[in-house]
Amino acid sequence: MKSQPAGIYGVLGNPIGHSLSPVMHNAAFEAAGVNALYAAFESSDLKGSIAGMRALGIRGMSITIPFKISVIPHLDELDSMAEKIGAVNTLVNSDGRLKGYNTDGLGAMKALQTKIDLSGKRCVLVGAGGAARGIGFMARESGMELVVANRSMDRGRALADFLKCPFIPLERIREIRVDVMIQTTPVGMFPHEDEFPVPADVFRKEMVVMDAIYNPLETRFLKTARAHGCDTISGLEMFIHQGAEQFRLWTGVNPPMDVMRAVVRKGLEK
Ligand code: NAP
Repeated sequence: MKSQPAGIYGVLGNPIGHSLSPVMHNAAFEAAGVNALYAAFESSDLKGSIAGMRALGIRGMSITIPFKISVIPHLDELDSMAEKIGAVNTLVNSDGRLKGYNTDGLGAMKALQTKIDLSGKRCVLVGAGGAARGIGFMARESGMELVVANRSMDRGRALADFLKCPFIPLERIREIRVDVMIQTTPVGMFPHEDEFPVPADVFRKEMVVMDAIYNPLETRFLKTARAHGCDTISGLEMFIHQGAEQFRLWTGVNPPMDVMRAVVRKGLEK
C-alpha cells in the first residue's frame, strides 16, 4: 500500500476542468520521487478557498483565471517580481504563511532562451492582456528592447507605459524590425484555430517566434511563421517552464521536464 502523500498541492481557478496542471505536476512528483498529490479546485469563493488552503495545510497552489490579481490581498507576502507584475500564479504555504509568486513570464523567458540569447534583442509583444503583462515584464528584465503591438489603443498604450516602451497599433506591425515576436492574444486558440492575429507578411526568416497558446500545439500563427523560415516555440514550452518553476519553488527539487512535457503533450493530443 502507498503511504499517505506528504504534501497536497493544487490549482485554483474557475473553470478548471480542462487544466493540464494536475496531470503535469502529478507525473512530476512521481518521477522525482516526491510523496505528494496535486488536485484541481474549482471555486467561486476565493476568500473561503484561501482560508481552506491555510486550514488544511495545502502546501502550494497554482492560481489561474480569474484569480491571478484578486488573490493578492489574501496573501501574507509577495515575491518582488509578482509585486511588480501585479499578478500571482503560484502560492507557497510555509507553516501557514502564504507567499505569492509569478512564474508565467519567467517560464516564457526560459522557453525563449532555449533558442536565442535575449540580451539586447528587439522584441514585439502582440497583445496587451494578462499574459502580455507578465511576459513583457520579464522580457524587459531579461534585457530585451520591447515594443507593444495591440488592436485597441487604450490597452496597448497602458501596457507600453507600464513597460516603459513604445506602442504601435497592430495593423502597423509590419513597420518594425524585430528579432523576437511573442503572440499573447487568445486568437487562434481551440476551437477557433483558423483565426490569425497578425498580417501574414510580418515574418522574416531570422526571427524567433513564440505563441503563448498551447491548444492547438502548433497554431496557424506558428505554422505560418515556420513556413517563412522562422524558429518557432509553442506555448507548450512556456506552460512546461512555468510549471517547472512552480515545482522548484514547492519542492526545491529539479523538475523532470521531459516527463512533464510528455504527459502534457499526450493530454493535448487526446
Ligand atoms: P486576455 O487578457 O483576454 O488577452 C487580451 C488581449 O488579446 C488583448 O490585447 C486583446 O486586444 C487581444 N485580442 C483579443 N481578441 C483579439 C482579436 N480578435 N484580434 C486582435 N487582438 C485580440 O488573455 P490572456 O489571459 O492574456 O491570455 C492570452 C493567451 O495566453 C491565452 O490563449 C492563454 O491560454 C495563453 N496563456 C498561456 C500560458 C502558457 O503557459 N502557455 C500562460 C498564460 C496565458 P484588445 O486590447 O484590442 O481587446
